[in-house]
Amino acid sequence: MRSLVLIGHGSHLNSESAGAVYRYAELLRERGLFDEVVEGYWKEEPSLRQVLRTCRYTDVTVIPMFISEGYFTETVIPRELGLGHQGPVPPEGIARVLGGKTVRYTLPYGVHASMSDVILARAHEALPDANAQDTALVIIGHGTTRNENSNRVIHQNAERLRAAGLFAEVHALFLDEDPRLSTWTDVVRSPRVVMVPFFASEGWHTLETIPEDLGLTGEVTTFGAQTVYYSKPTGTHAMVADVVLNLAEGARGQSLQGGDVDAHHAQAWDTFMRLAQGGVRLGEAVITPQAGVFELRHMLDEGRGNAGLHTVVTPEGVRDVVREDEGGHHRPVHTLRNLPRGWRAVLSAEDLPRAVHYLYPAVVEESFACHTHALHTTPWATTARRQTGIYTKVQSATAEQVEAAARDVCSRCLKTRLWASQKLDSTVFDGVPGGIPCPEACTLLVAEVRERMSAKAGGGHHH
Ligand code: SF4
Repeated sequence: MRSLVLIGHGSHLNSESAGAVYRYAELLRERGLFDEVVEGYWKEEPSLRQVLRTCRYTDVTVIPMFISEGYFTETVIPRELGLGHQGPVPPEGIARVLGGKTVRYTLPYGVHASMSDVILARAHEALPDANAQDTALVIIGHGTTRNENSNRVIHQNAERLRAAGLFAEVHALFLDEDPRLSTWTDVVRSPRVVMVPFFASEGWHTLETIPEDLGLTGEVTTFGAQTVYYSKPTGTHAMVADVVLNLAEGARGQSLQGGDVDAHHAQAWDTFMRLAQGGVRLGEAVITPQAGVFELRHMLDEGRGNAGLHTVVTPEGVRDVVREDEGGHHRPVHTLRNLPRGWRAVLSAEDLPRAVHYLYPAVVEESFACHTHALHTTPWATTARRQTGIYTKVQSATAEQVEAAARDVCSRCLKTRLWASQKLDSTVFDGVPGGIPCPEACTLLVAEVRERMSAKAGGGHHH
């Protein structure tokens, strides 16, 4: 029995950000290589701190869904998962035993050798008759001085494609680092130039920074004797799904024995399902058994006729309706008291746990651990000490600053802050729907503390 975890960056602001990871997770679920596929995020839920707890099996493979190695794959994710590793990840990945689970952490999908095929596919879309006589290929990377590894993948792909001899010349150029993209006219000799941005998604860089830097007027732009053909980014190509599958298959091959059902996880969910069979309220939702299936809806929609509600019948349907509040705002923390109304979900007993997981990620596992006095809490000082990069400064936040941020953010949340010494005596397992523990400050709160400190320092930088 094996769990696969796909890790995405996620966003506190944008509900579209998690979409790509959801799609790959669905695809991998369909392929059935793993017994379950779970998503986890840096800035959404389940968070990197929670995600291993939500895995059903004791054999867990974690794939970072990032296009290159760098700060997130080498620092943030290993740290937040508690892998006890910092720095470059070896090609065979990292394996650790954590809380009774064997966790295997792989390289990000973007460094897989088959990404060269994706670059090639993008190049041929932009210029179908690209050839070794008159066409140059330029792979565009972001470039950063923060982590030298993050650009290695671009150079590796350039070398691989150069060796394949399909283009007259192949260059790796960067937005923020030498050799700069802006110098392309000095290095590229061929009359036709295909430029492929090695970026995870279409966004500010691919739509604005790069075209502006180059002076592009569209997909095809002529500069004197040279014509530039600008492709879509590599990360959004359909072939990336095969790259992820290859990586997952490789990782699956390393897990020879597989694992068992995690006893704590099974106990939490078995107990919860017994509650659900008699009807249970959790957070702002209510679950009612109905003729062999379960109905899930907002508590305030109780008594409303089904005809006036949008009905979903899958865990993914629940995931999509609870992602935004009624005003269309993203809900990075699902226990914020803004669960939208106006929907109902009809689910089998088999699907209910996944639907509840999407509704309130990690809440069943953490509430049960709290109920059985097995929940480990992490005080603010420890969370703050762990922060790096732009969040390092929260280490010097005063208790008043943290409390002020919590008054703003946590007062809108159902959870009880155990990390700030608040007490929680009863949970859903004692019949209290809103008794949900918060064992550790979430990234939304950390970001809020940072923002307040920046504003006070006159930086005014917005997270
Ligand atoms: S830190 Fe605050 S906002 Fe974040 S999950 Fe805990 S209680 Fe909710």
